[in-house]
Amino acid sequence: MKKILILGSTGSIGTNALELIRNNKEQYQVVGISGNRNIDLLKKQIEEFKPISVYVGSEQDALNLKKNYSFIKEIYFGENGLAKLSKNSDYDIVLTAVSGAIGIDATVEAIKREKKIALANKETMVSAGIYINRLLKEYPKAEIVPVDSEHSALFQSLQGFKKENVKKLIITASGGTFRGKDLSYLENVTVEQALKHPNWSMGKKITIDSSTLVNKGLEVIEAHELFNIDYDDIEVIVHPQSIIHSMVEYVDGSIIAQMGVANMKTPILYAFTYPEKEFNSSINFLDLIKTNNLTFEEPDKKTFKGIDLAYRAGKIAGTMPTVFNASNEIAVELFMKKKIKFLDIYRIIEEAMNTHQVLSLDKDDALDTIKKVDKETRKKVREQWEK
Ligand code: NDP
Ligand code: MG
Repeated sequence: MKKILILGSTGSIGTNALELIRNNKEQYQVVGISGNRNIDLLKKQIEEFKPISVYVGSEQDALNLKKNYSFIKEIYFGENGLAKLSKNSDYDIVLTAVSGAIGIDATVEAIKREKKIALANKETMVSAGIYINRLLKEYPKAEIVPVDSEHSALFQSLQGFKKENVKKLIITASGGTFRGKDLSYLENVTVEQALKHPNWSMGKKITIDSSTLVNKGLEVIEAHELFNIDYDDIEVIVHPQSIIHSMVEYVDGSIIAQMGVANMKTPILYAFTYPEKEFNSSINFLDLIKTNNLTFEEPDKKTFKGIDLAYRAGKIAGTMPTVFNASNEIAVELFMKKKIKFLDIYRIIEEAMNTHQVLSLDKDDALDTIKKVDKETRKKVREQWEK
């Protein structure tokens, strides 16, 4: 029986994970879950899975839950609550599926306890990857298994090979909702249009990120941090069918790809079961005969600047990836609130990066530095763009 803690259980990844567990209750026990504002769903999940540790955004909701569900032993809320949940609960695997850099501290606590981390929360790896990797060296029994479909694909395609044999990582991209569109079209696209992803059903923030290709940019930095591969050896190619989830090209000319339906259950399940593979009745299988057309093309990096901005931030390193991530998080929030236009997202990120004095993360206070820069970047963007 594996004890699972799910951070972000009310989200898209979180509900997919619970669906897997619902179909294999002999193997998994949900010991803790967390939601922020979606109390109705959180209550349903509490009633079904009976976790003994819970986090919720507000104090009032926390008090109500504690009163109504006597089996809950620990309830957390507010700032630091997620980190405390990760620090104090009794679990074997934590699935980090909150959205945004808010997940950093909880991941740090899990590493310090040398737990297995099923990492969906890519913003953590982008914003704080340099620090996280150092911490992983200090706590060698801690283990991160990626959940992001591309990184799960790369992780699987790398099994059994030495890093020296890798020629490059090839990250596939669907191209997003606006594939093929030009700048004049993008100028006036709406939130509703951006939220329609052709292949994947996901949370709102990542769906907007997919439409700007900032998501692919975040994934390039995430891949660099997870697999320690040079940015020059990471390539993005558009594969509109989203069947191949990413590939590794080796020095002998062979390419190993991982394929499957566009559904997050398979990578979540693999992160739970690695190094094994496991059947689950809620998994969808790929019908190869119906999948008769796999195509590949260059991404339009001139129009969709999210990829190049990420390479720039990643290569500069230090606190620049933190700025790239934080400015994007606020830009996406403002776009969803209809306070800025679609293309302003790129302007905001570029401006934040251009005006940032990069700080080194070599010293012991790296995490404090990351948090400070993250906070300052968010504040600066809000001051300038939130009307
Ligand atoms: P969702 O927006 O669907 O869910 C986010 C979860 O985080 C919800 O449980 C939400 O709570 C919670 N949350 C949001 N803000 C806070 C906060 N300030 N404090 C505490 N909890 C918070 O996101 P997704 O499931 O789509 O994505 C989760 C992560 O996984 C992201 O980092 C994303 O990039 C990554 N990912 C997602 C994929 C997908 O297919 N969805 C694919 C690959 C990676 P509530 O809803 O109750 O307010
Ligand atoms: Mg992905």
